[in-house]
Amino acid sequence: MNIRLFIEGDLANGAAIECSRDQAHYLIHVLRLAPGAPVALFNGRDGEWLAHIDAVGKKSAILAVDSQTRPQAPEPDLWLVFAPVKRAPLDFLVQKATELGVSALMPAITRRTVVERVKRERMAANAIEAAEQCERLTVPRIENARPLSQILDSWPAERRILLCAEAGEAAPIHDFLRESGSGGPWAVLTGPEGGFDQTELDALHKFPNVSAVGLGPRILRADTAALAALACWQAVLGDWQNRPPGRH
Ligand code: SAM
Repeated sequence: MNIRLFIEGDLANGAAIECSRDQAHYLIHVLRLAPGAPVALFNGRDGEWLAHIDAVGKKSAILAVDSQTRPQAPEPDLWLVFAPVKRAPLDFLVQKATELGVSALMPAITRRTVVERVKRERMAANAIEAAEQCERLTVPRIENARPLSQILDSWPAERRILLCAEAGEAAPIHDFLRESGSGGPWAVLTGPEGGFDQTELDALHKFPNVSAVGLGPRILRADTAALAALACWQAVLGDWQNRPPGRH
């Protein structure tokens, strides 16, 4: 299994890619790779390419791109709008949501959100690392934290919202998804540790394309609920009928 790196630049046969300093440090000093060693590259647009280390300096590495190993392929368009949780669970949530194939991660500040600052750069680094590891061809879009009301003010009309509701009327998520038909795109929305407050729930129930769904009889932690809902969506409407690439 090759080392896999996300890079920003275009990927094409014969291209020379200069790694970031962190990537060069990882290849040279952590993995101790020498020139000639293979590295898989992806940028979210051009599919996956096989490259090799062409030249190394003390703190730099140039990769020479050789051949495409996987064409860019469509991936599920599923957003996760979530009330942010404290640092360690947030790192975990970003990594696991990336493995579960989300296309966007949108931290939403709700009335009972206790977290002040959400470091977007930290979220992006966690998402890139998880995307490299799980062999997806894209990295999810990471947005800055915004009030939930502001997110909803500019919400795309066609995108359906799965509101994970721990109280009130809610259909079991798998029944709802099975009966909903795949008309999407979709978003999963989960609340903070203290849950949504009633005014938020009232507003959400009036919002078009919002469907309240249940995740069983137990109260899940906010990060658990988000990941459970993402897994249900992938299993019913997503791409879990596919197998990991090259492992048929
Ligand atoms: N205030 C809630 C309580 O103690 O009753 C706890 C909120 S829960 C920790 C955080 C979020 O996870 C909720 O706002 C909801 O979005 C989701 N959630 C947790 N358990 C759920 C369940 N059984 N069904 C649907 N959503 C759930």
